[in-house]
Parts: sequence; structure tokens; C-alpha cells
Amino acid sequence: MDSCKQSVIDKKIEKTIANLKANNMEAYFCRTKEDAALLAESLINSGDTIASGGSVSLVETGIMDLIKKKKYNYLDRAKEGITPEEIEQVYRGAFSADVYFTSANAITENGELYNVDGNGNRVAAIVYGPKSVVVVCGYNKIVRNIKEAEMRVKEIAAPANTVRLNKDTYCAKCGVCLSAKDGESTGLADGCKSEGRICCSYLISGYQRQKNRIKVILVGEELGF
Ligand code: SF4
Repeated sequence: MDSCKQSVIDKKIEKTIANLKANNMEAYFCRTKEDAALLAESLINSGDTIASGGSVSLVETGIMDLIKKKKYNYLDRAKEGITPEEIEQVYRGAFSADVYFTSANAITENGELYNVDGNGNRVAAIVYGPKSVVVVCGYNKIVRNIKEAEMRVKEIAAPANTVRLNKDTYCAKCGVCLSAKDGESTGLADGCKSEGRICCSYLISGYQRQKNRIKVILVGEELGF
């Protein structure tokens, strides 16, 4: 990457990390996704029960492969032949996991995590349950504030994820949320009424009373959407 552009991105990352720490979240920077996977490995122990949200970033960093290794007890909601009842058990099991891995839909420079869920299991686990939550994000998910985070989901994350998940929604067809017009939103929770809607529960994680339960690995590469 061009060094001038790199310097701008690095300043954004530094500010975000300082504010995440001020919000009682541990925050790390890894220049590459390979370094992020090594750091993730150092944050888990053999025998740990691990769960995760669905995440392209976890796949791209190799962390999804790491946590599926036999030395960990990975609660796999996508294993072959899993029944809807077993998926429900995995979701509930995540609440007593040692470590929960996820990405975020956006991270603000003010040190807030912004996440939007359809089912709600991921935002629930971020809020409470797992002893430790590890959030892995490329620098491309850093935004200035919650307003930008809201628009990032409506204009980038949700349209791409509905295509990935094969959901029949307005944004999958049109590339933008029904509630987004010219960079503005008609309302945070406005949108389609589709059965496949993936935007139902909205979570902002700000200052945490439990110091360093949430750990954020910011990566100096673009990851996920
Ligand atoms: S509310 Fe519906 S149209 Fe809007 S981003 Fe979410 S899934 Fe897409």
C-alpha cells in the first residue's frame, strides 16, 4: 500500500484502539491476517469450549480453521447433517463457552462496536455469557461514528451478507437497504419486511464494566464486508 495512504489508515487505527481501551476493551493491532491468527491462538487454551458467529473475516484470517482443531471443543452450528434442534443447542451452548469469536459490522473511532443481527444469537453472546469475546475486524470496518456505522450496515454489510446467505431481500436485489436514500437513513430500524431480513436486533457495545472481557483484533488488511 502507498505509504501516505497507509499513514492515514494507521492514525485511524491508533485512535480507535486508544478509545476501545478507554472503553475497557482490550485492543490489538495486527498488520496481517496471518499475525491476527497467531494472536487469536494465543488467546485460547487447549480444551476450551469455543463458539462463533458466522463471519467472513474469521474465514479469511484462517481463525475459523484454527478453532475447529481437535484440541478445542468447537460448537459447530454448520456441521454436516446438523438438525434445527441441534443448532438451537449450539446457540444456547455459546452462552457458557469459554471464548466466543466474531467480527463486527462496524467499529467507531470513538471505540464502540456496532452489530446488527437477524437471529440475535450473536449480539446476545457479545453482550453476556461467554467468558471471553474475541472480535476480529479489518480496518475497512472502522467508521467515524454510530451514524456512519448505521449506514455501513445498510449500504455495504447487509446487502453483501444477504447475497452470501441467499436471502430474498430488497438489499440483495438492489444493493442497498430499502431505508437508505442518498447516504441517509429513514430510521435505524427501518427496512424491509422480508422473512429473510437480517437486520432485527441492533447492538452498540460502549464502555464495558467487565474489563477486557471483549478483545478486539484490528487487522491492517481489508476483511469481510
Ligand atoms: S432491513 Fe432488509 S433491505 Fe434493509 S438491509 Fe436489512 S435485510 Fe436488507
